[in-house]
Amino acid sequence: MVSRVIPVDPFDLVIFGGTGDLARRKILPGLFRRFLAGQMPGESRIIGAARSDMDDAAFRAMVHEAIKEFGGRESADEAHLRAFLNRLHYVSIDAKGDGGWAQLSGLMVEDRIRAFYFSVAPSLFGDLAERLHTFEIANKASRIVVEKPFGRDLETARALNATLAAHFDENQIYRIDHYLGKETVQNLMAVRFGNVLFEPLWNNHYVDHIQITVAETVGVGGRGAYYDKSGAMRDMVQNHLMQLLCLIAMEPPSQFNADSVRDEKLKVIRALQPMENHHIVRGQYDRGKDGQGYRNDVENDRSFTESFIAMKCHIANWRWAGVPFYLRTGKKMKARSSEIAVVFRDLGHSIFEGDEARHRNILSIRLQPNEGMDLQVTIKEPGPGGMRLVDVPLDMTFADALGPDAADVPDAYERLIMDVIRGNQTLFMRGDEVEAAWAWTDPIIKGWESRNDVPKLYEPGSAGPDDSLMLLHRDGRRWRDIKG
Ligand code: NAP
Repeated sequence: MVSRVIPVDPFDLVIFGGTGDLARRKILPGLFRRFLAGQMPGESRIIGAARSDMDDAAFRAMVHEAIKEFGGRESADEAHLRAFLNRLHYVSIDAKGDGGWAQLSGLMVEDRIRAFYFSVAPSLFGDLAERLHTFEIANKASRIVVEKPFGRDLETARALNATLAAHFDENQIYRIDHYLGKETVQNLMAVRFGNVLFEPLWNNHYVDHIQITVAETVGVGGRGAYYDKSGAMRDMVQNHLMQLLCLIAMEPPSQFNADSVRDEKLKVIRALQPMENHHIVRGQYDRGKDGQGYRNDVENDRSFTESFIAMKCHIANWRWAGVPFYLRTGKKMKARSSEIAVVFRDLGHSIFEGDEARHRNILSIRLQPNEGMDLQVTIKEPGPGGMRLVDVPLDMTFADALGPDAADVPDAYERLIMDVIRGNQTLFMRGDEVEAAWAWTDPIIKGWESRNDVPKLYEPGSAGPDDSLMLLHRDGRRWRDIKG
């Protein structure tokens, strides 16, 4: 059980789409763990809302099953699970109709934090926002949480922002990117800005290049129809990878608060140079041994959608001029692994001879598996035989350094939901950030579409198309191994 928890005030969390996949797999099991950690004080309630006709008892039974399936080892704690389920309620509501809203309004309690999680298709966001106001359910202190995809281009993102802005102030809108809720991602900020050691080296004088890899072993699975209209660029790069890039590249904010951090991230996105086509590799996974390729999975034998992308980006500012940021993400890769690697420059002059001179410091930040960080440093290999140098990791895996409790960190969703309740937007995307990210990615995607760009095929279980290896090879560099 997690010991270091910050108390929160009593709250009501309404989950629109409370019967959906995301609610059952992530949100509700996450809330159960927060309940166990003592973060659902007093009379706090969770209210599921969707069109399905069911009562509280049926909703509780559904959540019980979901927690048993997705809740991990904590779900064995039947007594606490029952107590948690008693905090659950359900209202049958159609976002597009007026039925059920008066009932939801009647459930609301004065002076309690109200948060509304829009775990539904974005096409329903406007209807929900409008009815929350028409039925006087939301007030100026209420918060809404919205899920990706936040638009599919700049135009649709602007329209979505405008729809929400018609009813909610920006400081009430929590655009979730669960990558920002990961422990290691926040630790990246702690390491950068809480130590004197790294920041002086965090620039083009000392950093050779940066790699960000998010590799999955799964294919598109049951999301084929959605994914085929999206692709890796929209599904992963525009949000998750760009957010990671921002945290790595941003200037130190003057304070650790929502707007200071988000102002600095926005500057990074705006400083990204427009992409050159030969700095991008698109891939699509080929048929594997099972005969299933991407096109079979999405049931579209003429699909040109990418399931892999690698790109070399540049940030045009004083700190990063000349330092390539290599980004790569793909499905059906050789291992499930997400890592940011800061590769430092070679020594200006080495006093050691031959091969012994070619060692590099690398700071590696692992998001999954085994969240943690290590810093590769060069030392002398112990024992006789002269000055033989060897690279060893200074391992900062939390569980090893801080004891077993440290490995028991909240899942990204849990942490982010609690930030919503606390009213802390630091780890959520602001509307202008999302729009700036689309403004950068739109011309790239439109270029592919206008040229009918055909992605390169790659073998399932590989590191992506060979052209991706060449992207670094041409620069005299290589990708780090994708290790699970
Ligand atoms: P889902 O399984 O299809 O669930 C959709 C939910 O919305 C259901 O509870 C559905 O219940 C409800 N719903 C549909 N139409 C409605 C209406 N008119 N009024 C009220 N409720 C309605 O979808 P999901 O996978 O949970 O995804 C939800 C959102 O999160 C989507 O925007 C998705 O892109 C995003 N997201 C999902 C994941 C994930 O892992 N699943 C990850 C990232 C982002 P009824 O049919 O009973 O109304």
